[in-house]
Amino acid sequence: MDNCIFCKIVDKQIPANIVYEDDEVLAFKDINPAAPVHLLIIPKQHVATLSDCSAEHATVLGKMLALAPQLAQEHGIAVTNNGNGERSGGFKTLINTGPDGGQEVYHLHMHVYGGKRPWRGLGT
Ligand code: AMP
Ligand code: ZN
Repeated sequence: MDNCIFCKIVDKQIPANIVYEDDEVLAFKDINPAAPVHLLIIPKQHVATLSDCSAEHATVLGKMLALAPQLAQEHGIAVTNNGNGERSGGFKTLINTGPDGGQEVYHLHMHVYGGKRPWRGLGT
C-alpha cells in the first residue's frame, strides 16, 4: 500500500528495530515507547484496521496473538510464578481500531507493553 509507513517498514524502505519476522508477520520496537518494553506486531499484508478483518484473517490474527507471549519471554516481560502461587511480570496487548479507538497508523498493529511501571497514558 503506497504511503503506508508500516508497509514501508515491511518492504525495508524505512528502518525499524525489527525483533521478529516470518512470511506473514513482522514485529518491531515502537519508535515512541509508552512503556519500558513496547513492541508492535503487524501482518505483512496491508490491512488498515481490525474493523476490516473477517474470518479470512483468522490465521494471521492468531499468529499475531500467539507471537505476543514468545516476544514477552524474549524481552523479559512474561508472567513468572515464584513457586508460592504468586505471579509477577506480565504485559498488555492492545489493538486501537479507528478514530474512536485511538488508531493513528492505518495498518493493523497490535501493541505489546511491559516492564516496570508507570507506563505513559495506559492506565492500570
Ligand atoms: P496507534 O495509535 O495504535 O495507531 O499507534 C501507532 C504507533 O505506531 C504509535 O505508538 C507510534 O509511536 C508508532 N509508530 C509510528 N511510526 C513508527 C515507526 N516508524 N516505527 C515504529 N513505530 C512507529
Ligand atoms: Zn500498510
